[in-house]
Amino acid sequence: MQYVSTRNKNQKCSAAQAIAQGLALDGGLLTPEVLPKLSPNGLKTMTDMSYQQRAVFVMGSYLDDFTASELSAYATRAYGPDKFDTKAVAPVRQLDDKTYCLELWHGPTCAFKDMALQMLPHLLSASLSKNEEQKTVCILVATSGDTGKAALEGFKDVDRTRILVFYPKDGVSDIQQLQMQTQEGENVGVCAVVGNFDDAQTGVKRLFSDAALRDTLAGRGYFFSSANSINWGRILPQIVYYISAYCDLLKEGKVQKGDPINVCVPTGNFGNILSAYYAKQMGVPIHKLICASNQNNVLTDFIKTGVYDRNRPFYNTMSPSMDILISSNLERMLFEFTERDDVAVKEYMSALATEGRYEVSEKVKKQLDKNFAAGCCGDAETQAMIAKIWKEKNYLIDTHTAVAFHVLEEYRRETGDDTPTVVVSTASPFKFCDNVLGALGVTDLAAGTDILDQLSKVTGEPVPAPLANLKGKEIRFQQVTEKENMSDRVLEMLQ
Ligand SMILES: *Cc1c(COP(=O)(O)O)cnc(C)c1O
Repeated sequence: MQYVSTRNKNQKCSAAQAIAQGLALDGGLLTPEVLPKLSPNGLKTMTDMSYQQRAVFVMGSYLDDFTASELSAYATRAYGPDKFDTKAVAPVRQLDDKTYCLELWHGPTCAFKDMALQMLPHLLSASLSKNEEQKTVCILVATSGDTGKAALEGFKDVDRTRILVFYPKDGVSDIQQLQMQTQEGENVGVCAVVGNFDDAQTGVKRLFSDAALRDTLAGRGYFFSSANSINWGRILPQIVYYISAYCDLLKEGKVQKGDPINVCVPTGNFGNILSAYYAKQMGVPIHKLICASNQNNVLTDFIKTGVYDRNRPFYNTMSPSMDILISSNLERMLFEFTERDDVAVKEYMSALATEGRYEVSEKVKKQLDKNFAAGCCGDAETQAMIAKIWKEKNYLIDTHTAVAFHVLEEYRRETGDDTPTVVVSTASPFKFCDNVLGALGVTDLAAGTDILDQLSKVTGEPVPAPLANLKGKEIRFQQVTEKENMSDRVLEMLQ
């Protein structure tokens, strides 16, 4: 199967090229030329499979330049018991007769980014071999928290890869900083940047476009790439868990073949919910994709009106992984809803770049209406929902997942739609102890890693092992750099 750019359908490449390259040369996003369909019995065939086998089955239909035995080896390593603390990998938990929670935080960094970032390094490393690339890839990441740690864990000690992560010195939580400073692996590097996330991100962008640096590193056998969620290798592993969730519901007899479900997804860059759309196109009977946003509600407005307008204030919220005003993966959705009109997509994206705004055609609006619902909420409602779910269901959720539950409640009240719904849970509540404890009415918060035990004590829930283990871990990376000197740090780390 070939991959095409969302901005030029005639620009094609193989899956291995798409994964190695990340972005199309014209700035568009690389997308499968056709979306494969599951066979009529496909879902049934998968119900008795393990998560790893389901991953091979689904990913194989998009990656014909990879063999089943290659994919099987990657799935075993990516989703094995040394990485995930439950055999189910992505378990579905029932909360009431029409509400389910898909827990995507059982991996090594306790956030849903692990689902893709445990798989991507294997796909990337193999893609380099397939493309006969001689050099070692160096993944550069600027992170506001979750992505950096998940990428470090995914790429650690993977052949022919190096990974360097830059985070804003005062822009991540104590736990997030400790997670990165204690990172293990021979091919990893971590450095704090004086400044905020924008400083780190702008600095990394400058590294990518620094021709002199690129030449020096090419001489040492390295080239740069990105593990950002626009890479197809991050979207594909996410399609798997939506299909897997439906198979689990079938297996448990909670739905019968063909019964519709809704999914409700806490959304930032639009990668997760886009994967749900692809699962729907493949044949999972998803009725509505419910897009949940925090106070940064640019997507809520877009889905309701067809106008995307990023000219608005930016808020720092309690669900920081959703604090985003430009949702990059929406471009792939526009490509589908315009019936793959690459010229229209290019125009929308250029209006976004120049004016920060675009309005889609009536045809696209109709598709948005048919497939999506949307809602948003603020921090107070987020915390109220954590308290409510804890009290009523004895189930502890994090701030991002709480946004989704709030939006689902509102959606049900407004529409009366009582289709069984899978709410996607994207992080362990232990990653956001302070705001979760606050929601439960605790005001006197413990310092440092003691806050993990505090949340455990208040709720009786165990601290996930990867977070509990932080305590005894050796700190390996304490370097801090000015943003002007980031290229020196890269040259030191890539000797
Ligand atoms: C990244 C992230 C999200 C947003 O996912 P997108 O694919 O960017 O929409 C939501 N919740 C958590 C905890 C995340 O880390």
